[in-house]
Amino acid sequence: MVVSEHASFCPLDCPDRCSLSVTVEDGRVTAIDGSLANPLTAGFICSKVRRFPERLYGPDRVQHPMVRRGPKGEARFTSLSWPEALDLVARRLLEVRQRWGGEAILPYHYGGSNGLVTDGTLDARFFAGLGASRLDRAVCAAPTGAVAKAMTGKMPGVAFPDYESARLIVLWGANPWHSNIHLVPHLKRARQAGARVVLVDPRATAPGAYVDEWLPVRPGTDVVLALALARWLVHGGRLDRDFLVAHTTGHERVLEAAEAWTLERAAAVTGLGPGDIERLAESYAEADPAVIRIGWGLERNRNGGSAVAAILALPALAGKFGRPGGGFTMSNSGAFRVDDEARGGPPPATRLVNMNRLGRVLLGEIAPPPVMALFVYDCNPVVTVPDQGRIVRGLEREELFTVVFDAVLTDTARYADVVLPATTFLEHEELSHSYGAYSVHYSPAVVAPVGSARPNPAVFRDLARAAGIDGDILAGGDGAVRARALASVRAPLAGGADLDRLERERIVPLDFPGGAPVQFVSAFPFTPDQRMRLDPPELGPNLYAYREEVVDRRFPLALISPATDRTVNSMLGELKKDEAELLLHPDDARSRGIQAGAGVRVFNALGEVRCRARLSERIRPGVASLPKGAWRRSFRSGTSATALVADDLSEIGGGACFNDTRVQVEALPAETDRPAGTDRPAGRAS
Ligand code: SF4
Repeated sequence: MVVSEHASFCPLDCPDRCSLSVTVEDGRVTAIDGSLANPLTAGFICSKVRRFPERLYGPDRVQHPMVRRGPKGEARFTSLSWPEALDLVARRLLEVRQRWGGEAILPYHYGGSNGLVTDGTLDARFFAGLGASRLDRAVCAAPTGAVAKAMTGKMPGVAFPDYESARLIVLWGANPWHSNIHLVPHLKRARQAGARVVLVDPRATAPGAYVDEWLPVRPGTDVVLALALARWLVHGGRLDRDFLVAHTTGHERVLEAAEAWTLERAAAVTGLGPGDIERLAESYAEADPAVIRIGWGLERNRNGGSAVAAILALPALAGKFGRPGGGFTMSNSGAFRVDDEARGGPPPATRLVNMNRLGRVLLGEIAPPPVMALFVYDCNPVVTVPDQGRIVRGLEREELFTVVFDAVLTDTARYADVVLPATTFLEHEELSHSYGAYSVHYSPAVVAPVGSARPNPAVFRDLARAAGIDGDILAGGDGAVRARALASVRAPLAGGADLDRLERERIVPLDFPGGAPVQFVSAFPFTPDQRMRLDPPELGPNLYAYREEVVDRRFPLALISPATDRTVNSMLGELKKDEAELLLHPDDARSRGIQAGAGVRVFNALGEVRCRARLSERIRPGVASLPKGAWRRSFRSGTSATALVADDLSEIGGGACFNDTRVQVEALPAETDRPAGTDRPAGRAS
């Protein structure tokens, strides 16, 4: 047996960007562990990616191109060769363009496990060449992204190691234990050095030993809490007016919005006590340094953009910038100044489709022309995008031509006319930045592709050839793609970086004086005057407004669907063997006659989900939780959380409003209380 160790990195949708040591035995990956190459990730990784070999070689892996041979959704396919598959796809796309126009083709994708080589490169050029519709990738980070861009130009945030300097750490809608584990050691050391850690979240996501206080805010009301804190700073004489004058514009706007939110009024809306809010305000004003880790949980509602804006304003109002460990961290991706056009060319002037409205677009309910060809890659919208029922009905349209290009047979791929096998990050070369760590990573392929799987650039290059699209897309081969990927990173790298160095060293940090950004000392807003804009006109007239919930008494429970320790979005969901659980407070269970472990029906006007109940006091009463990204096979109903989520959009950024979902829950009758089987749904190539 030939055993070897290979350096790589993890490009999944996670802020940490672990450096990896991959064990290969006789050409197969047998183990994945952390390496010390990335000092931030320090040799350990999450349990999710340890299981990646099961994804590589598991029964759900797509190994060869396949074409549909049964009704849509049954996933009955037969294999075909790559030349046959490419000809078929190119021919059908050209037919759609000929008859319906290029905008009747919708490319549908998200990050998946893709970095700067395999995302937004030849795929972007291919669809631009077809004149296809463009996709507004708004399912995640759309409100936070729009607000951060407008207020700070996406200024770099506090580096995770600098949390150890902080005296107060507020984890706001963030769950590092599931989605940012390399922050956890710094939280621990900060607490050992005397810092307080406060968690603002409807669920107590943090182990008790790590947090001093849990503030179980009602979903959708974070903006009110932030404005109440701002008002307290004003009335408590704790505003840093010198900082506001020197480094911001428009602070009057946020103070005007805050004035209405007395402690009592804010308490009535957020579900917290007035004393809780005041205690947080006092400790925030006192602590030096204080840092807020802003997660993505708080953006997923009708007020998400305003919530992010009001929280971002707090360190400016309270004068918390200007020292290591002081300020905020959200996404750090803006620090890399990535120029997407340098990789994918200029975007075409075609219609922009919000990805959260996929079901309606497929059913022709909005935004004509009708979609006649859907090309899904690195994405599994059936279980990750709102309104599963509409999406499935759209995918079942017989006249729709659907291609899914993915590594495993996802819940979406089951509806495809053609399935193309994609490589994973261990089977192709990749270059990537991060939205947490301040470093650029490179890795060649570690093993040969399983079956005849191929990487994105190769497939889109061949599709372009088959469709008669030429120009830059065909020029220069993989070397040109790699060079353009690195050139798209506009921020300076420490010591400079060329491809030779990156290929040699594998990881190169961004160039900050002192090694890490200090907000308003070595890192300033990327705005023309380097000031933070607290009243950016592009965020519209309702910035900092609280939109009340429209209450439907039939569905009294708020449903959230946050990330778990099992999947990265929906990735690795195929490996989950046990049944999904609805997390419910014991008071809500008792009033409904629901026992721990019993089968429950979760429903609203859009649909229903059946699964098992888990009871815990670590979720606030009136709120229930289902796992994000779990596949439909994990539920006895064959539907998952997104079947209950409407496709409403947040007021800023057009983001998905997962946490505005309202449901009722009831116990299933004993005779129907049978757990979801772990039998794999039928659906393989014959
Ligand atoms: S998902 Fe995050 S924590 Fe897990 S290996 Fe990848 S980068 Fe590391």
